[in-house]
Amino acid sequence: MMGPMRPVIVAGNWKMQTTPADAGELAATIARRTNEPDVVRVLCPPFVCLAAVRDALLAEPAGRDVAVGAQNVHHELAGAYTGEVSAPMLEGLATWAIVGHSERRRDAGETDALINQKVRRARDAGLHLILCVGEQLADREAGRAAAVVTAQVRGCLEGVEPPSPALDGRALWLTIAYEPVWAIGTGRTARGGDAAEMTSTIRHTLGGLGFAARGEAVPVLYGGSVTSATIDEFLAETSIDGALVGGASLKPDEMAGIVARAALTARSRGSQPSS
Ligand code: PEP
Repeated sequence: MMGPMRPVIVAGNWKMQTTPADAGELAATIARRTNEPDVVRVLCPPFVCLAAVRDALLAEPAGRDVAVGAQNVHHELAGAYTGEVSAPMLEGLATWAIVGHSERRRDAGETDALINQKVRRARDAGLHLILCVGEQLADREAGRAAAVVTAQVRGCLEGVEPPSPALDGRALWLTIAYEPVWAIGTGRTARGGDAAEMTSTIRHTLGGLGFAARGEAVPVLYGGSVTSATIDEFLAETSIDGALVGGASLKPDEMAGIVARAALTARSRGSQPSS
């Protein structure tokens, strides 16, 4: 039986790069170079660049369909949390948010339990979420990759209800990015077949958590040193629905190549870009 139709998504994580002075121009250039209506495109600049990117995309005819995302949200709504940004504060600035990125797990000590709270806050604020999971190299070498990722998905989503049962299975409230930590920013990628195996593990886990259609409605992206030269291997796998791109997402030529390849996949799968 065919699973629910999933969109093809290319999301760019700019990390701690760009400034309010240059981010808008970069976003507009990427929008022009990736003008493919069949692909969901999301740009995630630093918090301080969200307004500049939003404004530049609104002013650029090719930018209207490009969504803006935050790279993180806080697990509380408001309070004495110096330097933090909560999900409701993003209203009008971003419609997507990344949570659980491995760099935040590493540098900010984020745990699955904390990320679970962030998921709830982002979902309640109506944000589209990209939840990142992925194993360390030692886990993969020890044959523990599937167990680690399964535990992450469970820990980050246990008890999290979708916004309403009617939305589960159709709306794009949750996307998962499988990002093996050893492939992020290293120039080393997973093999397409291994990544596809992990997407199956992820959807199996979602099914066990009660997600509609046994998790088949949830898009799963691959992330880890994706470039225009490596994206093909991942999109050739029917279970992989696009990419979360770090370093290459700052390069318009790279994004043009990645999104052009994603558009071919979207058209051949008959994917619908809207949520
Ligand atoms: C990321 O930041 O999520 C990422 C995958 O980075 P890179 O593409 O640079 O490995």
